Amino acid sequence: MTLDEIYAFGVNELTRAGIKDAKIDASIFLEEICNIKKGYLLAHGNEELNETCGSSLEQRYIEAIKKRSERIPLQHILGYTSFMGLRFKVNENVLIPRQDTEILVEEALKEVHDGMEILDMCTGSGCILISLLKYTNGCIGVGADISEKALEIARENSDAILGEAMDITYSYVNSDLFENIDGKFDVIVSNPPYIATNKIDSLEPEVKDYDPIGALDGGEDGLYFYQKIITEAPKYLKLGGSILFEIGYDEKDAVSKLLEENGFTDIEVIKDYAGLDRVVKARRKICLTN
Ligand code: GLN
Repeated sequence: MTLDEIYAFGVNELTRAGIKDAKIDASIFLEEICNIKKGYLLAHGNEELNETCGSSLEQRYIEAIKKRSERIPLQHILGYTSFMGLRFKVNENVLIPRQDTEILVEEALKEVHDGMEILDMCTGSGCILISLLKYTNGCIGVGADISEKALEIARENSDAILGEAMDITYSYVNSDLFENIDGKFDVIVSNPPYIATNKIDSLEPEVKDYDPIGALDGGEDGLYFYQKIITEAPKYLKLGGSILFEIGYDEKDAVSKLLEENGFTDIEVIKDYAGLDRVVKARRKICLTN
């Protein structure tokens, strides 16, 4: 098959399977599996794929398209995804890092200064903590998750991305929220499960069938984890320390109220690129008398 043909095959198969971003996914597979960039495809579409990159790659591309047609997420098929310009390994044990979550990291980077201690509650793949450690100097990071299988991936990602960097210290703790957490932190970040239980069925198959349910289900009203984390957090946050959450588009008021009721101040809501409320940040009050 020529490059044009194989690309068209991918787009057609994915479109028939009801995948909205069929063109994007087909060109990502072409690039990631066959090393054919979009620009190359435009200029050399009539070259044979076999001559360019070998028949085994053609076979792998076709298999990837077939799997994607079954609504398996592209990131699970490739085994990795990109987040904050870094490559994270993913599998069925971790929530696939979303672009929206980069907003949380960018806001957190305004609060995290070199040498600070950071806690990432419900760390999953580790993408938030690892990005914060990668783009600061000399910080100490702790990632907590109830899933040991998720922590295995977070540790692998840390080793691959942070490597042997001398000035970065990190550890991962298997913990049901704060249960096994010690010490006080300058910044706590969290993207907890926040989908209301009865909304999970209406999510796309890629999400509801492949992201771990434990990383999505935020209880009856979606707020279970915010409530737990916010009431406990003051014990684990230095005075004046910051807390930042990713939130669902309709959770701003409830999460802000919980923060207010639990001794937080300077509450701010940040929107994502789609204009939806996505991040809430706040500071632990410095004054001990109120
Ligand atoms: N943002 C994810 C979604 O839309 C949910 C992530 C979460 O619950 N923390 O599916």
